[in-house]
Amino acid sequence: SLSSSFVYTAQPARVVFGRGRLVDLPAEVQALGARRALVLCTPEQREIAERAAALLGDRCAGIHAGARMHVPIETARQAAAEASRLQADCAVAIGGGSTIGLGKAIALESPLPILAVPTTYAGSEMTPIYGITADGVKRTGREPRVLPRTVIYDPDLSDGLPYAMSVTSGINAIAHAAEGLYARDGNPVMALMAEQGLRSMAAGLRGLDRAAEDTDASRALCLEGAWLCGTVLGHVGMALHHKLCHTLGGTLDLPHAQTHTVVLAHALAYNAPAVPQAMARIAHALDCGDAAAGIHALAGELGAPLSLRELGMHEADIERVLSVALANPYWNPRPIEADGIRQLLRDAWAGRPPR
Ligand code: NAD
Repeated sequence: SLSSSFVYTAQPARVVFGRGRLVDLPAEVQALGARRALVLCTPEQREIAERAAALLGDRCAGIHAGARMHVPIETARQAAAEASRLQADCAVAIGGGSTIGLGKAIALESPLPILAVPTTYAGSEMTPIYGITADGVKRTGREPRVLPRTVIYDPDLSDGLPYAMSVTSGINAIAHAAEGLYARDGNPVMALMAEQGLRSMAAGLRGLDRAAEDTDASRALCLEGAWLCGTVLGHVGMALHHKLCHTLGGTLDLPHAQTHTVVLAHALAYNAPAVPQAMARIAHALDCGDAAAGIHALAGELGAPLSLRELGMHEADIERVLSVALANPYWNPRPIEADGIRQLLRDAWAGRPPR
């Protein structure tokens, strides 16, 4: 069982949570002993970065709006050069997983502490996992140094996350908790966080208003879910679902959160016979009878994409993805078998219900 034998090392991170808490940014930068923070963002999120810079006043060394999807190595080099030119002693990463990933890339090569302010539900802020893309290949690794030292979760900043992105980002978070419940190195603390993360995120997503910007409790619930699910991702190993999504993203350049949204139900269905207790816990947390069917229904109810086809994947790519997925062995509760994974990919491609 999950709790019969384990080693659990808690990752140190300070979490500041609440509406409007972005105002705590200067005090939190100061608490890190920093005087010159470089604010990182994507070109699209410059406005939020400028708000942060204004709050920081003298403690802001500058804004670098160079974050891009998948952290291309050139962007990491440019950001590191900018940090050293401005004599920054801290990086404040405001945005989604791509921006926080850029902060991590800087921390990988320098002693700069990272303060993360997430605006999506991807969860990177709670993990020591980094990813950098060079020559079309994304290299990922675990390195304690890249774990953000402080995280400010302010639901105000995700109020504007478009509905469709909120849903796929939320299901991306749900995937961390779901796989965390059958992780080889799982433990009771992470199982509790995973279950509560699933509950908060599902309730938060269901409460979002499709037509309008939300400023209500649902956004805070989603962000709380993102924190819990991200913490699980940071502490225990993932399996089939995350590996398949990584392969699909790397091989075909499919969008991250949407790919997670489509694949999750199918990966859970594949693993279900091997880990019935974990599936029961997922189903219980999501208040449904079956974990895989419940995820599929949730995605459908929320209007999320249900097929890899609608994400732009061609049917002919199924065999290519399959061969990459089979080429790199990894731990999974159920052995990785070609026929089963081919069927899984076909179902996910066509948007059929999980079997
Ligand atoms: P993202 O960071 O790529 O953001 C997508 C787009 O949404 C960007 O243009 C961004 O500026 C915009 N955006 C972000 N927040 C917004 C908001 N509140 N309102 C409006 N626009 C907003 O997307 P993501 O899904 O957060 O991150 C995906 C990336 O993060 C992938 O590369 C993935 O591999 C990585 N990731 C890493 C980890 C880890 O532990 N290392 C965990 C999860 C994801």
